[in-house]
Amino acid sequence: MAKIRYYYNTETCKYEAIKATKKALFFNVLGFIIISFVMSLGIIYVYRTNFTPLKESRLRAENDKLKLDWGILKEQLGTAYQHVDELQFKDDHIYRVILDAEPIPSTIREGGTGGHIRYENLMDQNLEDPSLILNTYEGVDDLKKKLYIQSKSYDEISSILTEKAKIWASRPAIQPVNNKELKRIAGGFNPRRFHPILKKIHPHEGIDFTANIGTPVYATGDGTVTAAYRSATYGNVIFINHGYGYQTRYAHLHEFNIMNGESVKRGQVIGYVGNTGRSQGPHLHYEVLYKYKAIDPINFFQRDLDNEEYEKVIELSKKETIPLDY
Ligand SMILES: [Zn+2]
Repeated sequence: MAKIRYYYNTETCKYEAIKATKKALFFNVLGFIIISFVMSLGIIYVYRTNFTPLKESRLRAENDKLKLDWGILKEQLGTAYQHVDELQFKDDHIYRVILDAEPIPSTIREGGTGGHIRYENLMDQNLEDPSLILNTYEGVDDLKKKLYIQSKSYDEISSILTEKAKIWASRPAIQPVNNKELKRIAGGFNPRRFHPILKKIHPHEGIDFTANIGTPVYATGDGTVTAAYRSATYGNVIFINHGYGYQTRYAHLHEFNIMNGESVKRGQVIGYVGNTGRSQGPHLHYEVLYKYKAIDPINFFQRDLDNEEYEKVIELSKKETIPLDY
């Protein structure tokens, strides 16, 4: 049963029942619903404004952290770039210059990596700040490419160095006898030498070193003995082929310490000073040939002499002396 409500009628001085019409009831209910709805909206608005849901809050924190991480990554990428640029600079301007090698063309070093199309899927993800991630990805790709080219360049430099080391080891670079006191040079290279005994121009195509019979004679560079025999003019003579166009000859030896065809190293004793062949006294006649043409051996003592000693040796080799061989 519906509860009957009463009110006090001052005119009739009686309590009378309140008669609720359907219309009044409808508006009462509607008012209640509207007020409840408005209050609910208010509560939701206040909550959303002042309180971030826990999950969203965590996602925002993670997002901020990720942005920070990408920023740090980008900075580290910049530092790595600087290091690679330094390596490239040393490669092109120091190593390749010293080794007389061609620099890597800038078109290869600076070549692109394919542009934005590679990152289309990244752009489709509707990211808040795609440029940060995009630039970093591009940077990493570019760095990988630069490192690959640099690595290939070092491989090439390494093989050039190996070849150069072989050339440097082979090229004649010391005196063929022990000459620390610089007193052993008795005659220098002279293509226009007038021979006092033969009374004619008789080129002297080597340097003569005076030394007692039996003094060790050294190979002046790595190579292969191509001949070791007794010649009428050179006496006991050794020929060494050093490769790369260079040969040396060691004449008037007392005896050999190597076999024909043997490989020799710079500084190895190959024979001993003698007075064999057309020789006026114990000495070593030493020649350097480049592409079968005798050249001045004075230019091939660099491993033995400092600048001052080199000057002195040049002076000694130019002195007119009585030829020891003819
Ligand atoms: Zn000579």
